[in-house]
Amino acid sequence: MTPFRYRCSTCGRLHAREEVRYLCPECARGYAPGMPLLGVLTAEFDHAAIRRQFERRTPDWNLFSAVEPRFFPPYPVGNTPFFRSPALGTALGFADVWIKNDGQNPSGSLKDRASFLVVAEAARLGESTVVAASTGNAASALAAACAAAGRRALIFVPATAPRPKLAQMLAHGACVVPVRGTYDDAFRLSLEYTTRFGGLNRNTAYHPLTIEGKKTVGLEILAQNNWRAPAAILVPVGDGVILAGVAKAFADLRAASLIPRVPRLICVQAQRSAAIHHYFRTGRYRAATRPDTIADSISVSVPANAHLACAALRASRGFSLTVTDTEILQGQRLLAEETGIFAEPAAAATVAALGKLRGDRRLRRQGQVVLLITGHGLKDVDAALQHIHLPATIAPTSAALERVAERLAARGAPAHGA
Ligand SMILES: [Zn+2]
Repeated sequence: MTPFRYRCSTCGRLHAREEVRYLCPECARGYAPGMPLLGVLTAEFDHAAIRRQFERRTPDWNLFSAVEPRFFPPYPVGNTPFFRSPALGTALGFADVWIKNDGQNPSGSLKDRASFLVVAEAARLGESTVVAASTGNAASALAAACAAAGRRALIFVPATAPRPKLAQMLAHGACVVPVRGTYDDAFRLSLEYTTRFGGLNRNTAYHPLTIEGKKTVGLEILAQNNWRAPAAILVPVGDGVILAGVAKAFADLRAASLIPRVPRLICVQAQRSAAIHHYFRTGRYRAATRPDTIADSISVSVPANAHLACAALRASRGFSLTVTDTEILQGQRLLAEETGIFAEPAAAATVAALGKLRGDRRLRRQGQVVLLITGHGLKDVDAALQHIHLPATIAPTSAALERVAERLAARGAPAHGA
């Protein structure tokens, strides 16, 4: 760990670590339900100290951590694969397409990174209960990290959350409260719970270390990419915290003089859940009134971190776009067929978006492009089955095998390789 203070992203005021827990107290007073959070805090490190101590040959990533390693739960997260996919690049019309597969985290999503750090913070503060609202992935990640750390997880989720995610949380022994309402209702209730009854609230952006935890994916991409920042990273966006986390990684790396420039960030939202996209494009905020999308992980009416996400996009010279549910499901299938990676719909939105950017002047086709795959496809099998049909059954006879052989031959050769 390196010493840090919290800086308010709204008013710029600095707060000592022990002075604040969630938002900037001054700016949070202006918050009203139905609006993005005000006063979201970011950790401001002593970058000169990092620069002095950090060595590329034996990188100590804990120098970029906002919690002392002795509080870390015994639950390894991150270090997920990063690899180039020429086949997917050819299919999408880009020369140099890379995958960061964060579906390979222990609970199956990038959210493990945030839960890991907040559970470490709970250990530091001596809090036995960690509370969260979630569309599903953050909650299953929190339930898993709490199980590993011997802490209690209290979770508010929309009753419509995919069943595999609910099963995960319950298997880890979390106290799960399905809310007859939206993610935004769950968010509000969890805030009220910790205000009235205590515990550490892990809500995304509300707890500043969710951004710091998610930042580790950006640090890894740089190290795995031989210390070069890619040209662009496509990020699926709901609340805007993963986007802010990736931006924070490269901002910290540049401030520590480890890279000369930051990658462009590209915000990908589902068409009907696109409050950050519209805010970024028009400068005027309005909630997504009915954020219905098959990509449940990025279905958000009121994105908590809208302000910081838009600032991160501008600072990286990035841009945003939206994709439809049909495009997302096609992207999911294409990714699965071309790379062997089965991603959940929210993650596959990046594949759909890159397909739409073919021929778009905003993104060069020769540059290195990274798709951030944020969750595993097994998190929501029902979504995939909307686009994939189960085949007809066969009789257990040798005669039926002949028709199987005919069916395989009719498919032709594999798309690539063989
Ligand atoms: Zn402030």
